[in-house]
Amino acid sequence: MADKRDYYEVLGVGKDASDDDIKKAYRKLARQYHPDVNKAADAETKFKEVKEAYDVLSDGQKRSTYDQYGHIDPNQGMGGGFQGADFGGFGDIFDMFFGGGGNRRDPNAPQRGNDLQYTMTIEFKEAVFGKETDITIPRTENCDTCHGTGAKPGTKPQTCSVCHGSGQQEVVQNTPFGRMVNRRSCSNCNGTGQIIKDKCSTCGGNGKVKKQRKIHVKIPAGVDDGAQLRMTGEGEGGLRGGPSGDLYIVIRVKSHDFFEREGDDIYCEIPLTFAQAALGDEIEIPTLTEKVKLKIPAGTQTGTYFRLKGKGVPRLRGIGQGDQHVKVVVVTPSKLSEEQKELLRQFASMDGEQTHEHEQSFFDRMKRAFRGD
Ligand SMILES: [Zn+2]
Ligand SMILES: [Zn+2]
Repeated sequence: MADKRDYYEVLGVGKDASDDDIKKAYRKLARQYHPDVNKAADAETKFKEVKEAYDVLSDGQKRSTYDQYGHIDPNQGMGGGFQGADFGGFGDIFDMFFGGGGNRRDPNAPQRGNDLQYTMTIEFKEAVFGKETDITIPRTENCDTCHGTGAKPGTKPQTCSVCHGSGQQEVVQNTPFGRMVNRRSCSNCNGTGQIIKDKCSTCGGNGKVKKQRKIHVKIPAGVDDGAQLRMTGEGEGGLRGGPSGDLYIVIRVKSHDFFEREGDDIYCEIPLTFAQAALGDEIEIPTLTEKVKLKIPAGTQTGTYFRLKGKGVPRLRGIGQGDQHVKVVVVTPSKLSEEQKELLRQFASMDGEQTHEHEQSFFDRMKRAFRGD
């Protein structure tokens, strides 16, 4: 679970990918990593990763759970994640060939705790300037009373007499193809290899307790939507002395009704009257930190961009900031008084060749198009 990649990333599709996109991406990658054709050492691992991602994202229910909780399955409390994803089809065959399956690990070995994912939604400007806050997450920790053993203080868990501590049982079956030996999880100890006679009363014998844990989070200035902060060791407690998992905080940034962001650059639109655009003006522009003056030259066209250097977002890694890009939009007046209309009619009657000297070629091209050239 340590470095479990995002399922969307594994398939190389966006979060809004359609079922069809997901199927296409999966087919392509499955062909690429199929261990029959790809002899690279990590092909099998890649193939399984792709298969697991597809199993989750192609199932509406699993996908929405994943979108909401990440690699955590709420049906299994805070533990589990999607390790239980169904490895049907190819997966089983390859487990046989490659001896995988992962069921044969020593049940008494220390085990790392699960990673947790927490989604945090922050304001636009909080992403720009950074934020410090406390969050409360429910997580499973080792029980303080029994130190995670699950046994009442003063007692110890006993080795399971059925599996002798291996956590595995062998089941022999006679089939038309001969004797088959299947291994499965020991039913006497549920695969733990241990039996706890006197259970710890705090945790009921499972060695773990659920706690609401407050964690201080520092969000760096310049963080963007979708960024993931990793807090080492803040995930769930490990088993039998294993290290804790990590906590991943996924940042969601709310949109702003005036500023738009693209990487470290900020975009905004400023309305101009026709008179301002034609005659030029000096206008005030809001930036993330202050108001600045911007000179609009006479004869500015609608859609023109002006750049305010260094008025963008601080760079997350590195020095300096992005820029702010101001797009001016000339707004046509919709309510005019009779006097204004009359003045505009006079203006239009004088509107000859000389007022459009710069746009001559534009008007020429249009006239030619009307003539059908
Ligand atoms: Zn057992
Ligand atoms: Zn306990």
